[in-house]
Amino acid sequence: MDNHAATMEKIVSLSKRRGFVFQSSEIYGGQNGAWDYGPLGIEIKNNIQRIWWREMTQLHDNIVGLDASILMHPKVWEASGHVENFTDPLVDCKKCKSRFRADQIDQEKLAKKQCPECGGELTDTRKFNLMFKTNIGATEDSTNVLYLRPETAQGIYVNYKNVSQSNRLKIPFGIAQIGKAFRNEIVTKNFIFRTCEFEQMEMQFFVKPGEDDKWFNTWRDKRWAFYTKLGIRMNKLRWHQHGPDELAHYAKEAWDIEYEFPMGFRELEGVHNRTDFDLKRHTEFSGKDLQYIDQDDGNKRYIPYVVETSAGLTRTLLMVICDAYAEEKVADKGNADDWRTVLHFHPKVAPITVAVLPLMKKDGLAELAQEIRNELREEFVTDYDQSGAIGKRYRRQDEVGTPFCVTIDYDSKEDGTVTLRFRDSMEQIRIPRTELVERIRTEIKNYTRV
Ligand code: ATP
Repeated sequence: MDNHAATMEKIVSLSKRRGFVFQSSEIYGGQNGAWDYGPLGIEIKNNIQRIWWREMTQLHDNIVGLDASILMHPKVWEASGHVENFTDPLVDCKKCKSRFRADQIDQEKLAKKQCPECGGELTDTRKFNLMFKTNIGATEDSTNVLYLRPETAQGIYVNYKNVSQSNRLKIPFGIAQIGKAFRNEIVTKNFIFRTCEFEQMEMQFFVKPGEDDKWFNTWRDKRWAFYTKLGIRMNKLRWHQHGPDELAHYAKEAWDIEYEFPMGFRELEGVHNRTDFDLKRHTEFSGKDLQYIDQDDGNKRYIPYVVETSAGLTRTLLMVICDAYAEEKVADKGNADDWRTVLHFHPKVAPITVAVLPLMKKDGLAELAQEIRNELREEFVTDYDQSGAIGKRYRRQDEVGTPFCVTIDYDSKEDGTVTLRFRDSMEQIRIPRTELVERIRTEIKNYTRV
């Protein structure tokens, strides 16, 4: 095993040490399946979210946004099939009390009812609903049960008429939404990969029945191409098509984009043909007519088909960190072996774009550096660091993936030039400070990972 490979352990440790992600309620021993995004983590998360939003709404004529509430009428989840079908098969060990998803353990052991951890006896497999239940109002009884939404999609379906009519949208059109979703996952592991509270970035595209296959293929291609914009190494991604046994209750066809995480290939995003299942069911359960009247086709009435693209925002963040992580041998201290940990984030994703570093605190260098930082912060997310040797400071910035460092030295005071250092190549160039903004802008635009 390569000692310098990215492992989940190293990523969890770096995330905590540098303020990307913390365990929820850590001082109380932590809360399973819940994580908090620290100062640098939230910057990356916001960046991913912004890039997705721009891609899915602003760069399309016919896709609009929505922010539906997390709490919805409980009938929504009956109609959607989640009350009945959104379950995982669960078994418990009677001896060691471990809990497993029956579909994820050794099937021979399951048949023999033998615990994979301790060899004890397993319970019968039972269905376990993944929705979190809560109550609204003062009393806790079955008449006021509410669910925390397990997907953002339903908020879009129940609003589809409101949105299309108020914005005079014509089929085909899409509605995009980013928001929290909750699932009472039986096994939460691998850091923020599978959590009970997470965020989704979903887009539901409404099409004419019969045109769904065509649009499904279009969206499959577009969603694949999206990951180049996040700077992901495309050879770490692959497609997985759901076989008949894997298809969700609503789906006609489903393909996942999978990323090769340290623990192996895992789902990142699903592209689903949900047919007219959801809108038909909402018509049935609400008694409201959810047909679309197609003015371009002789006022024909039909329930649209839906192609869904559903990505996890927090899971994408994990992918971005895993993909960026590298330990590299550098030899800038004589010939001695020296390693750096570096995050090769795309500059548009990186939490800090430019760090400004005065060589010394004294002789007016700190003041000059602050002045330059103030110029840069109008345009970029900046950091300022004046403590420690310059090499150490570069390493600290490498470790959080800052693509550019600007160093101010004595010559800067004399001739107005500064050193611009590049994270990936560690190359340093000397340029007039007046050219910094334009140069960094161009570098971001033309960025490709080496
Ligand atoms: P899985 O098979 O991993 O449970 P799923 O197929 O149920 O996932 P979808 O319902 O298609 O997932 O959800 C769409 C996306 O939401 C997933 O691709 C994933 O990125 C994200 N997601 C789903 N469940 C979780 C979770 N528990 N924690 C973090 N992200 C999640």
